[in-house]
Amino acid sequence: MYDIAVIGAGINGSCIAYELTQAGKKVLLLDSEGIAHGGSGAAGAFISPKFSKSGELKDILHTAFSYSMAFYEKNFPQLLTKSPLLHIAKNEEDDATLKIYKEKTDLELLALTAPTRESVSINAGIVNAKPMCEALAKFATFKKTKVESLEYSDGVWVIDEIYSAKEVVLATGAYRQLLNEPYIKLRGVWGHRIDIKTTTNNPHSIHQEVSISPSKDGVLAIGATHNVHYHPESSQEPYSFEAGRVELLQKAAKSIHLEDIEIIKDYIGLRSGSFDYMPMVGSLVLSHETLQNKNINFHTKKPDYSAYSYYPNLTMINGSGGYGFVLAPYLAKVLSEYILSAKEISPRLSPSRFFARWAKKL
Ligand SMILES: Cc1cc2nc3c(=O)[nH]c(=O)nc-3n(C[C@H](O)[C@H](O)[C@H](O)COP(=O)(O)OP(=O)(O)OC[C@H]3O[C@@H](n4cnc5c(N)ncnc54)[C@H](O)[C@@H]3O)c2cc1C
Repeated sequence: MYDIAVIGAGINGSCIAYELTQAGKKVLLLDSEGIAHGGSGAAGAFISPKFSKSGELKDILHTAFSYSMAFYEKNFPQLLTKSPLLHIAKNEEDDATLKIYKEKTDLELLALTAPTRESVSINAGIVNAKPMCEALAKFATFKKTKVESLEYSDGVWVIDEIYSAKEVVLATGAYRQLLNEPYIKLRGVWGHRIDIKTTTNNPHSIHQEVSISPSKDGVLAIGATHNVHYHPESSQEPYSFEAGRVELLQKAAKSIHLEDIEIIKDYIGLRSGSFDYMPMVGSLVLSHETLQNKNINFHTKKPDYSAYSYYPNLTMINGSGGYGFVLAPYLAKVLSEYILSAKEISPRLSPSRFFARWAKKL
């Protein structure tokens, strides 16, 4: 019997497994493909904030950026490359946004600037994605298996009639959801990035149309595309690597002139985004049971999440979009404090917000 079973071994599953094993819990980590084979295996894993004027996503990414940089540096310094990041505006609207960002931010601004457009430069980092997930998952028991069923019986979760655990955390990314709850909807956005060899030396990270890493031994990473039309579980046509490569190189050329390019590796995967772009962390509402409760007003502007019925000892961590490596250490801390000491999770992160919106429309 395990204390906690985590389903999905991407950066979210690996981070929560790390937090819980560090707290002395016996953790089972399950993934159908292996560690970091979903979106997390494809990520360039740039750690950066969101360079926008305002908003909840900007705020949480600002907090998570500082938290995660410190977390990676303290616990896995060998898997974090610290480097200046030059973020360049894409268009005139972006020029104005970056000007406001620079006036408001409390991050230290560096002198590095782009010659062409408005830009901002800060100290940031890049994580070595797959080894990072492996290092985080090291203290959990890992089993490669595709989970098909989850049953709660006598206070215990039984997984595929084989494993049992007191708690379950779902960290399954943009893949088919294990629990059939109609209000949980995730947007899978396909992404492609490449490693290239080039004789051009790039000394720092550049973000504009795409992200370009600093050169290391003549190699740099370019990522990533945002393809909403292709999905590995539903598309009829195979994915066109050639089209993805062309798009990446054309977009990179807007920021830097790269010479003698040789593509040496492709990485592909799905990002998992929520429909309001904010991550989803916490307990899952039992929609059928909650809808039966005649004492709840589902048409209110201020829903009382505490009145809802929830799956017992079951939580999720998902919906990180294109910022999984920035968000995961912070979200895992929030979720582990909820699981271990019942510390409340902000309603803006709670999956209950999607139940409230869905129930209101019924
Ligand atoms: C090309 C690309 C570039 C990116 N670049 C960056 C970047 O620079 N910086 C950044 O912060 N983020 C980046 N991202 C986003 C980041 O990778 C994602 O936000 C992150 O990987 C999401 O992690 P996850 O753990 O939620 O999901 P995933 O990594 O997709 O993991 C989910 C796992 O669950 C497993 N699973 C699903 N269902 C089951 C089941 N029934 N049984 C067993 N296992 C199951 C899957 O096999 C998968 O391994 C990028 C993404 C892509 C695709």
